[in-house]
Amino acid sequence: MRCSLLPGGPTGLRITISQQLVRRDIVVAADSISITTTHPRFGGRRFWFQCDCGRRCGRLYLPPDQHVFRCRICYNLTYRSAQEHDQREYDLARNPSTMMAALQSKKMKRRLLGVGAMTLNMKWIHRRSGRGVARQGARSAVK
Ligand SMILES: [Zn+2]
Repeated sequence: MRCSLLPGGPTGLRITISQQLVRRDIVVAADSISITTTHPRFGGRRFWFQCDCGRRCGRLYLPPDQHVFRCRICYNLTYRSAQEHDQREYDLARNPSTMMAALQSKKMKRRLLGVGAMTLNMKWIHRRSGRGVARQGARSAVK
């Protein structure tokens, strides 16, 4: 892939990507990406890419089957840690009474996953405190 800095964009700089084969199976479309800067408190300048959506970002991505570089929001990309994250584990670890209810449950699914125990606990919290928690309880019940 060939990139060149050309005049243009908010800072007077743009990266122009010429259409070229990056690898045998990936074709990158000719594109122009603006570069913007910020001025950190400690001085100097910090450079950013300006995605077509208007978002300022430090990285642009080219997923498989795509031909233009865009930010992760445009391509709806998520980090592996977010994909592998199971909120139920954190909920159980944060609330010892829920953990105990899950461990002491006679139902194997509830004992292993905390499913159901969390729902019961959220209902209990909802009864005690009221608003806001009801949404969490509903979310937990779905899982
Ligand atoms: Zn974007």
